[in-house]
Amino acid sequence: MPGLGKKFRGLVNFLLDTTCAKYYVRDMTNRERNHQLANSPTVENIPAACADELTAVEFFENQRWGNTPCCVKCGSVDVYKMADAKAGERNRRFLWRCRDCKEQYTVRIGTVYEESRIELRHWAYAFWRACTSKKGVSALEIKRHCQISYKSALFLMNRIRFAMAPDQDSPKLTGTVECDEMYIGGKPRYRGISKRGRGTSKTPVFVAVERQGAIVRRVVPDVTAETLQTAIREEVSRQSRIITDEHLSYRGIGSEFDGGHETVCHGTKEYVRPGTHIHTNTVESSHALVKRGIVGIYHNVSREYLHRYLWQYDFLWNTRKLNDGERIVLGIRAAEGKRLMYQQPA
Ligand SMILES: [Zn+2]
Repeated sequence: MPGLGKKFRGLVNFLLDTTCAKYYVRDMTNRERNHQLANSPTVENIPAACADELTAVEFFENQRWGNTPCCVKCGSVDVYKMADAKAGERNRRFLWRCRDCKEQYTVRIGTVYEESRIELRHWAYAFWRACTSKKGVSALEIKRHCQISYKSALFLMNRIRFAMAPDQDSPKLTGTVECDEMYIGGKPRYRGISKRGRGTSKTPVFVAVERQGAIVRRVVPDVTAETLQTAIREEVSRQSRIITDEHLSYRGIGSEFDGGHETVCHGTKEYVRPGTHIHTNTVESSHALVKRGIVGIYHNVSREYLHRYLWQYDFLWNTRKLNDGERIVLGIRAAEGKRLMYQQPA
């Protein structure tokens, strides 16, 4: 926004944010919106869990097992909390023991927080923030708020982002699917010439989003027809209808999809084909959320790690109709069973 002083830039960003936020919730019914804003017992309980380790442990145990704690090794429900021999209070390491397989374990076993000694109250805080901040939360902020080392905070956030990663067997997108690319970070190729979009050295990200539905973002090496069309084939089901802008790389994809392929011509200032629902507004407004987060919260992210941040933004988008409490529970549940896989995608 050249010409506008620094003073106004904050205001402009604020207005952009609120309009994007409106877009973000436009596809929701009133009922869904009320639900999204509803109070939640999880949110009520979480500040206490962030303040005290025993409360945090019990919070995570409750999220994981509800009223029926079970053995993480054999699945038996014949388990008990171990007590300290002298004081009779709960064991300092919060151990459980199984009467069937005689094993000892804690709530951490088999989750993304297993290998860390970072207290669970900090995990609770990080989950809370990561699952409820639309633009994301930085490790630096977690470091300051929890008073832990930056290294620990980074560890927390990386594991939480990994917990938010999509499952391998997530279904493909269906219905009307808008596809587009966005460009993150990097410097423009020439100084003074357009800093935006195609033709710069920024990292391209392919984005596909169902109308009213789920989103998939992935880092791609380039924006050639081969790359983008392969991405569409892998992420979108054959029964769908594809909508893109007039970028040449999308040309010809329509014959492979039952619903065909429609384009809007941004070059001629066409944003919605008159009298139709042919537009790419959903996917384009989704870019703004990511860009504001990456630029504003993370101050840019290298190509190497960008995919992890996209997992988080996809998770937030795909759970946007849940209320904050439900989203926190979902994030914590997703942390279960992901520990072993962490080695590969890192
Ligand atoms: Zn057991």
